[in-house]
Amino acid sequence: MKLKELLAVFESYCPPSMSMKGDFCGLQIGRMDRDIQKVLFTLDVRPEVVQEAIDLGVDLIFAKHQPIFKPIQALTDQTAQSAMYLDLIQHDIAVYVAHTNIDIVPDGLNDWFCERLALQVTDFLSLTHAFNEQKLVVYVPQSHAEQLRIALGAVGAGLQGNYQATSFTSSGIGRFTPNEWANPTIGANNQAEAVEEERIEFLVKNTLMPTVLATLKQVHPYEEPAYDIFDLAPFSASSQNYGIGRIGKLAQPETLADFCQRVKTVFGLEHLRVILPPKQADWQQAVQTVAICGGSGEKFYREALQKGADVFITGDVYYHTAHDLQANQLITLDPGHHIEVLFVEKLLEKFIDWQKQYHWEVDFLASKVDTNPFMTI
Ligand SMILES: [Zn+2]
Repeated sequence: MKLKELLAVFESYCPPSMSMKGDFCGLQIGRMDRDIQKVLFTLDVRPEVVQEAIDLGVDLIFAKHQPIFKPIQALTDQTAQSAMYLDLIQHDIAVYVAHTNIDIVPDGLNDWFCERLALQVTDFLSLTHAFNEQKLVVYVPQSHAEQLRIALGAVGAGLQGNYQATSFTSSGIGRFTPNEWANPTIGANNQAEAVEEERIEFLVKNTLMPTVLATLKQVHPYEEPAYDIFDLAPFSASSQNYGIGRIGKLAQPETLADFCQRVKTVFGLEHLRVILPPKQADWQQAVQTVAICGGSGEKFYREALQKGADVFITGDVYYHTAHDLQANQLITLDPGHHIEVLFVEKLLEKFIDWQKQYHWEVDFLASKVDTNPFMTI
């Protein structure tokens, strides 16, 4: 099967557009119309993983962390990193990345962490995507109204449940006086004009509004089309917010000591870094509301505080941030960035389900390389 067919299914669940601003998600190396027979899932793309992919005859590496993270100026064997890119290209191995979008989408990595920790998800940690309805009102001469209605309907204006291109039109008179520099479609410079116009109203999703406006400006006959955009109250099912990280609740409060022990067991950790505010150094205190952002989420600690977390779980906590966490009385557990390796197991499950559902003739494999660079001695 073609890579693009496989990705179409994945991206309908986890679109690249659901990533954090400025983050890269999607196909990083390779051609969309290539054939795919063997896919290897990994958290990181390291030279050892690329060697594994070469040995296994893999066509696609599916990773959480993008191998090309910094701009590259040369594609040679002079650094280990760029030699790895050359190996991938020479062995015709494509690389696809699902980075922050898999942290944000429902049924994504942070939900899987909560599932493992028996946390009932109640909210996301930090808002990233807000989808809401807006109302577009545009005024157009009657002669061009139908053409505009059709053009805007075709790019998503007026989507309402199972209906598309829905609109309401009323009639009236538009009045204007073009000044001497204007180039009016109707009327003359420095003369007051009155035109029979239609006022057309559409519901438009905020995410589609830029495309709708670009089309409006292209199709509308006036030099200065008149239109208004109104934000609507979030009343409809399509008004939905998405965010990174999760807030979850334990069914019953647990002692901090028991909860830490469970975090270690669930993620297979020998050691767990704990940041305990000096005033709260009590291992028997109750824990019930937990904020989690796998990977490197220390910057979201204020949201964890605002949302009433007893404990915050995130990796890569920086020394001075740990002092801030103490000062803000937020107990924080740092299980390391590598707990994200759960990505491999859970995505493999999803692709095997799709394989059965769509009768794909593709092998899906989990990398056996341990890419965790840290050990504790
Ligand atoms: Zn990560």
